[in-house]
Amino acid sequence: MRRTRLTLAATLVASAGLVALPTAASAAPAAAADVPVQFLTLNDLHGRIATPAADNRDGQITVDGQSTLVGGAANIATLVADARASFAAAGGAAASSALIGMGDLVGASPFESAAFRDESTIEVLNSMGMAVSVVGNHEFDRGTDELRRISGATDGTFTDGITACEDVGLPSDYCFDDSARQPFAGTDFPYLAANVVVKGTTTPMLPPYEVLDVGGGQRVGVIGVVTETTDTIVAPTGIADVDFIDEADAINRYVPQLQAQGVQAIVALVHEGGEPETPAAVSGCGELTGPIVDINERTDAAVDIVLSAHTHQNYSCYLTDPAGQPRLVAQAGYYGRELGDIRFVVDGATGDVDRLCGTYTATNLPVLQSLADDPATTAIVDYWVAQAATVGNQQVGTTAVAVNRDSARTAESPLANTIAQAQLEALQDDPAGAYDDPAAEFGGVPVVAFMNPGGVRANIDAGPVTYNEAFTVQPFGNYVNAVTLTGEQLRLVLEQQFITPARSTQLFMGTSEGFRYDYDAARPAYDRVDPTSIEVQDPATGTFVPVSPTATYRVVENSFLATGGDTFTAFTLGTEPVTGPVDVDTFIDFLGRNPNYTPPSGSATAPNGFHATPVTGGTWASAPLTPPAGGGGGAGDNGGSASATGVSGALGVAAAGYTCPAEPTPGTGGGAGTPGGGTGTGTPVTQPVANPGNGIGTGQLANTGAATGQLTALGVGLLLAGGVATVAGYRRGRGITQQ
Ligand SMILES: [Zn+2]
Repeated sequence: MRRTRLTLAATLVASAGLVALPTAASAAPAAAADVPVQFLTLNDLHGRIATPAADNRDGQITVDGQSTLVGGAANIATLVADARASFAAAGGAAASSALIGMGDLVGASPFESAAFRDESTIEVLNSMGMAVSVVGNHEFDRGTDELRRISGATDGTFTDGITACEDVGLPSDYCFDDSARQPFAGTDFPYLAANVVVKGTTTPMLPPYEVLDVGGGQRVGVIGVVTETTDTIVAPTGIADVDFIDEADAINRYVPQLQAQGVQAIVALVHEGGEPETPAAVSGCGELTGPIVDINERTDAAVDIVLSAHTHQNYSCYLTDPAGQPRLVAQAGYYGRELGDIRFVVDGATGDVDRLCGTYTATNLPVLQSLADDPATTAIVDYWVAQAATVGNQQVGTTAVAVNRDSARTAESPLANTIAQAQLEALQDDPAGAYDDPAAEFGGVPVVAFMNPGGVRANIDAGPVTYNEAFTVQPFGNYVNAVTLTGEQLRLVLEQQFITPARSTQLFMGTSEGFRYDYDAARPAYDRVDPTSIEVQDPATGTFVPVSPTATYRVVENSFLATGGDTFTAFTLGTEPVTGPVDVDTFIDFLGRNPNYTPPSGSATAPNGFHATPVTGGTWASAPLTPPAGGGGGAGDNGGSASATGVSGALGVAAAGYTCPAEPTPGTGGGAGTPGGGTGTGTPVTQPVANPGNGIGTGQLANTGAATGQLTALGVGLLLAGGVATVAGYRRGRGITQQ
């Protein structure tokens, strides 16, 4: 258990007595000085190493009411240096600042990362000196062996006996030469996975925690866990050798082990998150909902900070821990658009984080593209972008005619239908031969696949199709999923294509072959599809059979639709969900086995190979359907978490009447822009509801209300060399030293 602050005060007195000091408040103590610490955090980078183009929405946030360009590893590296300069100006030591990864650093990546199994992104993170990262769910996209392959700093520990380019048993399209023309050697930082255990055991597959030496004789323990839902959102075959257990239970398991080593300052790195009710804030809290609220409530009070990720949100909140103390819970956006700047103080006397009387803040800094590009990072990114241009020109198929999308999204399109067909076949026939028994693997043989039109991002020209073209069509890295729907729920999917109270535009989905229906767009909402016209083809006989409202059907959709994306909430009613391969992989496989591809020509009533037949004056007698509430994410990624677990108010007020104890060394903490940090003696300290700024940044963020951190311009010229905390325990080729 974390000792209460009153106990800490008593400890101070006792220690002082041992060294024969007159009082705890002596100005000349023997106790070690407090150590200010800075954690700079990157979550859900998803391989976004290249600076986004000006017209790329991923690279735009609102600062000072203006759309502002953000992102790019070259800018992240510069901001890391600037944030460290700010920390130094506030009294921090170089050895007390660490760059921390929060998971999903790789996976669902753009081409310059995905084409190289994210080895490009790992070179960038190594170059930035990342100290440690927790695994995210996307680190499991290509399975546990691939995760072991990339986790170079843990080779030989726990179940990780795999060295980056040796003895892997993977296909040959891995291990590329990096920008220094050296073969891939994995991460220089350990990947933590406390709650990913070897199946049927309690042994984690990778190290559960890491102890960082933060200087001044102090250490900080970091425990890493990933969303326990990972096994439902990545392909099952790749993770068959592990179990994902409860996040808080796993954290709590390792707290005593850290304490037994004398480590009192403990930070949980949790690749799971929440959503603020008022999500406009870049820093700040608002009401926080979602899984992280529950995780915080059940995480041992000895854990001083809970850093989170996965939901692609910005927040910095003080929630209550099980002992009733405020605890910082934060997340810093996604795609390298923001950098989290976490500041806290390790008490020199106790070795614990001083939550009530020292600096204890999280500020999200926008990664402005207007920052000067870091030259070393730029060189690495430029190298990989050039490599991507070469690889991207490789041919993956040919088409006899152009295969186009419908950019207005108001009609079926040959390309969306083709993608749906590719995804159906991937789970139906397993043409890539990846599974022993695809029907068992995917919960039965699917009869139809749906593709949302917004997920089809470009046309395919006639002639050779390159890897780059295919990737441009499907850049999101979604998975192909399957669920079981009733016939009536299947009809609701079709109804949700049209204008409804929930959406003001028509979004006509691509569908696979062997499926058809009639509709009349002039009829009332949720009653535009003739229920008797919905038919699926019996694969054995080729006969079209009407869909029964009460029968169940296996249906394929991508992970974006599975969570109710684009208000297709009918998919959230599905049962027995399973996750299959990455979408673009199935599309490339399809093109590869269909050379000189021509989309189906269709029939007289449904030309162009379309599966929906418009009718006028439809007279069918059916009751309008009622959609379920919720769903409706806007992004193409599947980063969201749908299960909110209650509301926790923004708090941040220390216990009423609490008095901070006298400090042996005054003036610690209290970074620029941090009110009340570290210097108060004998005065009740009130934590702000949301975090104040840490004195870095350029311009005031556009968030409003009490949650806003006002950022002031940073005085340049305070450059600080180095700054990565020493990592104790894990180095390439060394066994672990813990437990
Ligand atoms: Zn995630």
